[in-house]
Amino acid sequence: MSFDIEGLSELKPDVISEIRGLVHDIFETGDQKRDQHIDRLIQEVSLQLKDGEINDEFLASAAVFFNEAFMFISAQDFSGNSDLYKFFRIINHLPILDYSRFYDQTMDVLKPYFEHDPKNVKLFDRLQLLYLYSEIGYEYAAQRLAGELLAQIDPDQLCFYVMYQLNKARIFNAHGDAKSEMKLMLDLAIRVWDEGGPEATLFVMTNWLFTLSWFKSSRYYKALLFNLYEKIRGMECLNTARVGYELFLLDDKQVAPAEKMRYFQDLVKFHETILNSSQLHSLHFFAGNYLSGFQEQFHDSIHSFKSSNYFLHKCWERLIDISKYLRTHCEPREYKLGMRFVEAKFMQLSNQTSLRNNSYVENLQMNFEKIEELYREVGELSLTDQLSGQRNRRFMDNNLMPILSLAARHNVPVCFSIIDIDYFKTVNDKYGHTAGDYILKELGKMLSQTFRHSDIIVRYGGDEFLIVLFDTNPGHSKEVMDGFRKKVEERVFRYRRKQIKITISIGAYCEIFPEKVKLKNLKEYIDMADIALYESKEAGRNTVSIRSS
Ligand code: GH3
Ligand code: MG
Repeated sequence: MSFDIEGLSELKPDVISEIRGLVHDIFETGDQKRDQHIDRLIQEVSLQLKDGEINDEFLASAAVFFNEAFMFISAQDFSGNSDLYKFFRIINHLPILDYSRFYDQTMDVLKPYFEHDPKNVKLFDRLQLLYLYSEIGYEYAAQRLAGELLAQIDPDQLCFYVMYQLNKARIFNAHGDAKSEMKLMLDLAIRVWDEGGPEATLFVMTNWLFTLSWFKSSRYYKALLFNLYEKIRGMECLNTARVGYELFLLDDKQVAPAEKMRYFQDLVKFHETILNSSQLHSLHFFAGNYLSGFQEQFHDSIHSFKSSNYFLHKCWERLIDISKYLRTHCEPREYKLGMRFVEAKFMQLSNQTSLRNNSYVENLQMNFEKIEELYREVGELSLTDQLSGQRNRRFMDNNLMPILSLAARHNVPVCFSIIDIDYFKTVNDKYGHTAGDYILKELGKMLSQTFRHSDIIVRYGGDEFLIVLFDTNPGHSKEVMDGFRKKVEERVFRYRRKQIKITISIGAYCEIFPEKVKLKNLKEYIDMADIALYESKEAGRNTVSIRSS
């Protein structure tokens, strides 16, 4: 899948083909004409700028340009890694101190520079400083240093030259000078194209795109990134990681969280040295939060939070490195002023740390509450008969004795009633077992509707229910039970167009418990109710028999 950038725009076809043609002219033709092509391209794109205001035509023409360049560059052979490209892998992890993980790699790439001229050691220090000034937002110092370094930058020393120019472009961008920035970046891209290879050129071009703040909220931005990402996704290189990460950073309206998760899954497979700790922290933090919404992914969520913690720790270490670097390489006055920016970074990181902690704790809490809820549900289920919805025998065995002890202590009379469906076997035989189930279920509902919440209803056997009534005398119990008997007798159960009628027999035993209730008493009383039930059955069924002491 890819976005049709040209279709999105309202540019005239001849403008589109002009821009596309110029992209090829610039990259494919020799030196003399290039400058003319670059000037024409800048003119063509800026022509769309009406009164200097950024409008949709301008955005669209820039999008056509980038898309064409990306497609052209990414179609090249990426197999050879230039030193410049290796250098780009290092820039993401500045500052390089002598104990840094990337120290040896840096020395490998920059050895020819340092051997060529020992002053380059100092120059690299200054360039790192320039880069860090920009990163912490210390614009004033960055500009001053850029001015100071201008005379020392030798265009033949490609790594330093590119690093310097990328920073200069950022300054143009910060001042809203799109035209100067475009000229600088196009010249730079061509230079890198000739000497650094397609992979490094793609890095420069995407780096340029990422700095264009006026472009980010346009409808072309995601489309551009997406098209490029799809094209280079399989390469798993620095460029893929950076483009994927830029997509991940877009707001949720442009890239929905589920899509972000896909980028996350791609990106965390990359080698840890490609993205930096801050980028890895953000990725894992997002995943931790996202996954915490899904109960079954609780473990993945915890895992992501743990990873985000690890990388957040690395961020702190890096910030300390930056602070140390500034302390060693800044002039005192600049250092003093620069501390404000470092402090702001510390604050930012501290906020991220507490945000992460909160999310982590909330996630744990949410899941703990879910577990408690499930535990309660399981507890309820284990004490409930599924078919009738009434309590089961286990409930009776576990809970009845304490309730009866309470009744005994307060001298409250208790009545045990056993309700049994008459000739229930015949119902099953005649209408089928599912019809029998239906009747048991309905009878369960009728019991709940008839008896008080404080009464205890237990499915005692196949077609038998035990009802324990409190604070009733035999006369009242008889009345209540007979009322229920009648209700059942009158009810017509309808199941699959069949009308089914049943009757029930009831046996009850009323008693005031002795002070110390024993399990033996309970069994005796239920047996007495059973005898009463037997009497009802003997008497011809559909009857209530009450016994009492
Ligand atoms: P009686 O009047 O003597 O009580 O006759 P009866 O046919 O009801 O006999 P009894 O109470 O001994 O038998 C209960 C029957 O209830 C046996 C079984 O077929 C049926 N039964 C027990 N549990 C279930 C159940 O969960 N679903 C259904 N559909 N039937 C059940
Ligand atoms: Mg029965």
